[in-house]
Parts: sequence; C-alpha cells; structure tokens
Amino acid sequence: MRSCCSTSLNGCMCREEHLGFKIVLRTESDVEIMDDGYKWKKIKNTPHRRNYYRCAAEACKVKKRVERESQDPRFVMTTYEGNHNHPSPSLS
Ligand SMILES: [Zn+2]
Repeated sequence: MRSCCSTSLNGCMCREEHLGFKIVLRTESDVEIMDDGYKWKKIKNTPHRRNYYRCAAEACKVKKRVERESQDPRFVMTTYEGNHNHPSPSLS
C-alpha cells in the first residue's frame, strides 16, 4: 500500500490502481476506435471527445475509456481497466 492511500482512502488519487489491472495506450490515429480483438458496448458519450465502453461479454467487467488528447489531437489515449475473464472473441 502506498503512503498516500493509508492516509485517505476516499480522497486518494491512486485508488483506482487498487481495483485492478490498468493499461493506458497512446496511439497516433485518425480514428478513436481501435480493433483490439474484443467486443465493446458503448456506455456513454460525453463531450470533450471522451467515450466509455464496457466489454460486451456477459459477466466481464472490463472497461475501456477512449479520449482524444487535447494537447495533441493526433493522439488517442485508450485506458483499459480490469482483466477479461474470457478469451478474445477474435481468437475463437
Ligand atoms: Zn471481456
């Protein structure tokens, strides 16, 4: 446990890291949607070109956030949270 987490669990900025596996990908791309082999359901569309998805597989809790970088719009940031509890649909 990090020192910041022991002091304040609710206000801790790194709390998300305790929930599970997280990867951030930065890709130079014209399109926001990368083909990563999994099927995704859009949860919501927000302004600022940020989109939220969850894995379309039943009982899988993996989430993905896709946003275009404001400083450098050539890049797209994709954040994955959690581990898939099933194989990639593209492999089957
Ligand atoms: Zn999944």
